[in-house]
Amino acid sequence: MTANDAGITADPHSANYPTHYVSNQPPPRVDINEYLLNIPLQEHLMNFGGVSAGATAALEATGAVVGSAKVQDDARLAHKNPPILHTHSKYGQRIDEVEYHPSYHRVLGQAIAAGAHTSAWEQPGKGASALRAAQFMLFAQVEPGHACPISMSHAAVESIGLAPELAGEWLPRLYSRNYSPGLSADKPGALFGMAMTEKQGGSDVRANTTRAVPAADHFLLTGHKWFCSAPMSDAFLVLAQDDSGLGCFLVPRVLSGGERNPFLIQRLKDKLGNRSNASSEVEFANTVGWRIGDPGRGVRAIMGMVGRTRLDCILGSAAGMRQSVAEATWHARYRRAFGARLVDQPAMSNVLADLALESEAATAVSMRLSRAFDDDAGPSERAFRRLATAVTKYWVCKRGPNHAYEAMECLGGNGYIEDFPLAMRYREQPVMAIWEGTGNVIALDVLRAMATDPESVEAFLAEVRLASGNHRIFDDFIARLMEQLAPVRQSPQDFAGQARTVVERMALALQASLLLRAAPPAVSDAFVVSRLGPDRSFNYGNLPPSSDLTGILARA
Ligand SMILES: Cc1cc2nc3c(=O)[nH]c(=O)nc-3n(C[C@H](O)[C@H](O)[C@H](O)COP(=O)(O)OP(=O)(O)OC[C@H]3O[C@@H](n4cnc5c(N)ncnc54)[C@H](O)[C@@H]3O)c2cc1C
Repeated sequence: MTANDAGITADPHSANYPTHYVSNQPPPRVDINEYLLNIPLQEHLMNFGGVSAGATAALEATGAVVGSAKVQDDARLAHKNPPILHTHSKYGQRIDEVEYHPSYHRVLGQAIAAGAHTSAWEQPGKGASALRAAQFMLFAQVEPGHACPISMSHAAVESIGLAPELAGEWLPRLYSRNYSPGLSADKPGALFGMAMTEKQGGSDVRANTTRAVPAADHFLLTGHKWFCSAPMSDAFLVLAQDDSGLGCFLVPRVLSGGERNPFLIQRLKDKLGNRSNASSEVEFANTVGWRIGDPGRGVRAIMGMVGRTRLDCILGSAAGMRQSVAEATWHARYRRAFGARLVDQPAMSNVLADLALESEAATAVSMRLSRAFDDDAGPSERAFRRLATAVTKYWVCKRGPNHAYEAMECLGGNGYIEDFPLAMRYREQPVMAIWEGTGNVIALDVLRAMATDPESVEAFLAEVRLASGNHRIFDDFIARLMEQLAPVRQSPQDFAGQARTVVERMALALQASLLLRAAPPAVSDAFVVSRLGPDRSFNYGNLPPSSDLTGILARA
């Protein structure tokens, strides 16, 4: 449409005054279905997630919800209006409450109604984890902050199950699809958080000094936690020392009689990103808690929760990559520069295709891992997930920030502006690598798994080898990986300095194997050549000339 067609007027207050006339900007990317547009997610749910074609109606419904202008606006508002801490009432009583913007409650309520928190536990079976993962990813793609309590609530179930009496009390509330904000003992639903990290030690939780002293049927906890996200959750799993060593305790915010459990929120963190979600410092002062798991085995008890939140860090990063690809390709399909659409210009289509490859690889491995968390997982699936979750958490979360940055640049100046979602995404991606195991800690965990669970290496390699014989570069890469792994498997403790190198290669091998088995040749070939081949590059937009950029972008 030309300016004249648009009815340009001489009235400077009119939207049609010449300088207000807007051309060559994309239309808003709203009121679309984020599930139906996401071909890699749809396909890999079925290829690897164990989901049958008829089981995705709820995802289609969520795709429309999160693609709506309303939810996208709520995501923007939630990040523009961060939570506010109220330590005291106006009369001076301690209340320790956090006030969230209504937009945050709306997104959280819709995610819970869709089962993004605990549907895989509530309705277990083949494909349940991938279905829940896809729900989680669709919501996290648009609003990442609420995904923190959603993830922790899902993840806490396994650990709570170690204490049957507490499980009987709390799991029905965790499975509820009802979200009511505020603190009360008789709400139908509940959300969980976790409090491990202290000032003197985060990764090394053995340094925890919070004390738990026995009292009647419970414990009284005293200490300080340096990070405790989503502090308006209804209960927390907390690590604390008692006479048997480090224990795990369930700490509710409100006790059964309705009185508040001491939970003194000292302040909220002023964070780089993740702004819609509150992360607090909290003090326990004779705070009531109940033991989960065996005395002195608190780390073991909370590991179930940690393992599943690690998976959710992968899902969250993959969801962020999907948002980045979707927003970047949308912009490039509408924006013209130097006489042609950006998406049709080779330098741009190479960047977009490369971003799409990364996103698809992250999506495929997310679905494969989710399947390994289904309740029918036998010993080899459990062994696979033990190692593959750590390998993938390291790699996918590390790939997130630069991916977001490149996608942001595809929007030019708009990308840097907070009105568009990729500025928020750029600030969001790094936390996925820090939370629940930083890069080095996870890479060292892979070495630990090699030492303590050698069968996990066998299960991992068996999965990777399923694509053997499909691509010469892949086969060469695997042969070299086997050579590199041989001495590491003999004495993993001697390879701490090379841990990242080893893990990176394992992660790429797994992603390539999945894509070779299930993605179209345009995707798998470009991934293998650009990530595993001798001319590997270190940035996005360097796919070799042999790449079928159009074929890759057709799926984005
Ligand atoms: C937004 C946000 C929300 C959070 N929410 C929660 C929460 O709800 N509950 C909770 O308990 N925690 C939470 N955390 C804390 C987070 O889990 C920790 O920050 C993380 O585990 C790292 O611990 P740390 O900060 O003590 O760093 P450290 O453990 O001191 O690590 C610092 C650096 O040293 C490296 N390092 C550590 N050990 C080794 C080693 N042996 N060899 C080589 N390098 C090593 C790490 O990789 C890291 O790069 C949150 C953090 C953030 C940023």
